[in-house]
Amino acid sequence: MTGGRGPTGGIGPDGAGTAVGTGLAGEVRCWQALADAVRNCTACALAAGRVQAVPGDLPTAADPQAVPLPTPVVLVGEGPGEQEDVQGRPFVGRSGRLLDALLAEAGLHRSEMAVLNVVKCRPPGNRTPTPQEAHTCRQHLDRQLALLTPGVIVALGSSAARQFIAGLTSLAGARGRLHPWRGSHVIVTYHPSAALRSGPRGVAAIGLRQDLAQVRRMLEAGLRPHDPVAP
Ligand code: SF4
Repeated sequence: MTGGRGPTGGIGPDGAGTAVGTGLAGEVRCWQALADAVRNCTACALAAGRVQAVPGDLPTAADPQAVPLPTPVVLVGEGPGEQEDVQGRPFVGRSGRLLDALLAEAGLHRSEMAVLNVVKCRPPGNRTPTPQEAHTCRQHLDRQLALLTPGVIVALGSSAARQFIAGLTSLAGARGRLHPWRGSHVIVTYHPSAALRSGPRGVAAIGLRQDLAQVRRMLEAGLRPHDPVAP
């Protein structure tokens, strides 16, 4: 699980603003306003058990007051874990350290990406967020993504992938291709916690490496939002 700096809005999995989204309405707000909305949110039961909400991280050089805030790569995890809950930032525990290492191995830099979660408050015992919790928190993720207009969204694990692919049945089956979503390109891959469990030679770790390498290739090719997705 993970979380970060900043957010609050509404989008859908298919780029059409329906299904897995709540539909974005109203103006795009700056990151600082979105982050404040997350920190003050009590819209679901997860608020009662949190130390603090985890809005997400922006790229280090990003201006939290800027609107819009185009960000080439946005990572989306599941939700804050214990360390994230305490520190108020996403992916700062063991999974985060592995993610950092795999990003570096792929020639990517976390400091140049935004890092978000499906739910912004830690589920008890690090359990998977319920569909209702994810739905309630979707307003925040949608507003964040509307602000960031990502070129590539990396969905880390099934909870994140379901936000962009309606009717997802298999994480493995959704890997290896780009999923168009609201002008962005979604890559589905394993959550770093699965890679931790699988070990360095496990399916999840190998798959995550492969998928991050694909992100690197996409960036090298200069892929931007609304570019056509190759079949
Ligand atoms: S998980 Fe999301 S919807 Fe629930 S209280 Fe936290 S910020 Fe609000």
